[in-house]
Amino acid sequence: MSYFEFINRRKIASEFGPTKSAQSTADYLAEIDRCEVGMFWATDGENKLVYLSPGARETLGNQAESILGLDIGQVFKDPPFAGEDAPARPITFKFNSRSEIKERLVEIEIADEKINYLKTSFFWKVCAKPFFDEKGDFGGYRGVASDVTQQTRKNRDLAKQSRHDELTGLANRRFLEELIAGTLRKFAPVKRSCALLMLDLDYFKQINDVMGHPAGDELLRQVSDRLTGYIRERGTVGRLGGDEFQILVPDIDDRSELTELAEGLIQIVSQPYKIDGRRAVIGTSVGIAIAPYDGINVAESGGAVDLALYGAKANGKGTYCFFTPDMKSDAADEVMIQGDLRDALEKGQLYLAYQPLVDPRSNRIKCLEALMRWKHPEKGAISPEKFIPIAEQTDLILKIGEWAIRQACANAVEWPGELNVAVNVSARQFAGANLPEQVAAALSSSGLSPRRLELEITESVFVGNVKGVDRACASIDKMGVSLTMDDFGTGYSSLGYLKRAPFKKIKIDQSFVRGCTASGDTNPAIITAIVSLAKALGMKTVAEGVEAMDELELVAGRGADLVQGWIYSKPLTHDELLKRLKNDDFTFVADGPLRYRDERTMVYRNVGAIQGDYHYDVVLKNISRTGARLNGLEGIPAGSEVIVDLGGGQFVVGKIVYTGKSGQGIAFETPLVDDGRGGLVTPRRISPYSLAAAGVKLEALQQSKRHSSRAGTDRY
Ligand code: C2E
Ligand code: MG
Ligand code: MG
Repeated sequence: MSYFEFINRRKIASEFGPTKSAQSTADYLAEIDRCEVGMFWATDGENKLVYLSPGARETLGNQAESILGLDIGQVFKDPPFAGEDAPARPITFKFNSRSEIKERLVEIEIADEKINYLKTSFFWKVCAKPFFDEKGDFGGYRGVASDVTQQTRKNRDLAKQSRHDELTGLANRRFLEELIAGTLRKFAPVKRSCALLMLDLDYFKQINDVMGHPAGDELLRQVSDRLTGYIRERGTVGRLGGDEFQILVPDIDDRSELTELAEGLIQIVSQPYKIDGRRAVIGTSVGIAIAPYDGINVAESGGAVDLALYGAKANGKGTYCFFTPDMKSDAADEVMIQGDLRDALEKGQLYLAYQPLVDPRSNRIKCLEALMRWKHPEKGAISPEKFIPIAEQTDLILKIGEWAIRQACANAVEWPGELNVAVNVSARQFAGANLPEQVAAALSSSGLSPRRLELEITESVFVGNVKGVDRACASIDKMGVSLTMDDFGTGYSSLGYLKRAPFKKIKIDQSFVRGCTASGDTNPAIITAIVSLAKALGMKTVAEGVEAMDELELVAGRGADLVQGWIYSKPLTHDELLKRLKNDDFTFVADGPLRYRDERTMVYRNVGAIQGDYHYDVVLKNISRTGARLNGLEGIPAGSEVIVDLGGGQFVVGKIVYTGKSGQGIAFETPLVDDGRGGLVTPRRISPYSLAAAGVKLEALQQSKRHSSRAGTDRY
């Protein structure tokens, strides 16, 4: 019988006539106590626990007495896992304000000296009313309780299981989502921000494959320990599944602070691991999104951090990347490309362009590289740098790759002389089962001599299916077709790779060639090193991407055997090429700017600037971390303060440091931050309303919405 039933019965008894003997209330209570039918407790006027009925004591084990005399707020505590169902006010507030307690779940922790003073938790549901004496003075609480320890412990364990990842003990995806939702909800009205970081481990799959799943599991546990050790109280680390982790960090929106945090994460994850006495090395890519700027709810901010991680991955391993709104359109483009590329071949939208490889000493062409082109009916020309990686994600690359080999062979037999043709082959295609057969078929149907065909592969070919690759190398070599190492120096560059296959040529990547004449550049030394390495191995070298005369002079001077670049020719359509080679004219004249100019720092973009109450449309000519050069602020004197509006809430406060014919120079108050993809972003984004509050006219701000939000340093 519950206490309430008991009281009710008593009420009924007293309303419907006297009981057989005239007992006082105190007698009854003493009897109830003795029968241990209910659980009662009371505090004194200072709210110290002074009474626990025997039944109540019974439920709390042998140390129940230890809580007598303690402040009630120290005895009855709010359970920590109440989560979303947590009552609006803490129970201490109730006690302090002497309010009534209704059906409240409380936790009672009792330290047991028998078990090393370990604390055991009991759970009660309590009801109580404050008691006031005749004079109106507070005399403590009088309360009842029911024991719900078993049920609550069970619920708590279940909740823990459903909220935590079994392998690592970290918050799981569901719990993390709840947590983010709750945080965003709580933060919105008080304008607090929070950052989401998403990590995906690099090379985890390889470790799993090579060392086995138990080792993979152990690695994940060690990673999670490092992450929690690094983040500590700053935020919550969770595992979304597989090798994906997510971290919620409240009250941070400064992108330079987040850069540091992300770099720290990359560093600690990249330290070597010891698993079963064996060493393992992995890395991680980190995507970052900040609420409310990049998303105001779980779906939006989750989508943003996903895209940011994708951006980091695409950028190369071991890097971080901030979300920027243009990632959304990039993702949409990707979906479009994936769909449309499927039948681009049948629809005749793909063709090959050819770029000559020229001997810089004789200016004579030796070979032509086939470069795939896609003319999309609506979007126009789409760069292979965009569509080839997407094709590589699926088997589509096998189909278009095979086509490229056939097409290149068929075209090459039409060329005068004995010019070679080089075709790019993707890693996935190269490791595929039937590349040698495809090559043989293309040669026999076109009638091209195998000696005139070269296949260009990159170092990425050697990561993964080792046996398939060695087999392919051997049979291609046997056919008499030659192999070229493309983009050398960019990937995992290992001398071992050069010796793995019978390469005839090494192509020095453009990144070493471009701007190699700038003073203080180490690239000339790298070029020299690659050339002498190639000579030692009996291979020829090609300098890729030569655009300016000074670069040509340098690479030729350092011994590059061939040069490929705009200095000789941009890629030509097959018809253009045939026309060019008519009359057996095989010489190409070098023609280009005398000096390399770093166009990458030249951006021409329309942005906004605010000075006083006015908004100006200005052209950003170039931008660095600490300043910008722009046009459109003529007439504003040097020394004036301006706000440059880069879009998306990114306002940079700066000062005009010079003004002249070539435009105005602005020095920023706070340096910009690298977004992880070669763009620059402001550390913080400012809500337009904060600026308005600081005196900037809202009308001036309103006009600035149309700008995109990332100051690219890409080529335009
Ligand atoms: P890649 O094999 O390294 O090709 C050289 C790239 O550099 C080409 O870009 C070429 O147009 C560009 N280039 C050459 N000289 C200059 C220069 O002086 N300045 C500049 N800025 N660029 C120069 P493209 O045609 O956009 O191709 C990009 C990449 O796409 C290729 O890099 C190759 O990896 C891939 N690709 C192209 N066609 C195929 C193909 O048929 N199959 C496969 N698997 N990949 C291909
Ligand atoms: Mg190539
Ligand atoms: Mg290349």
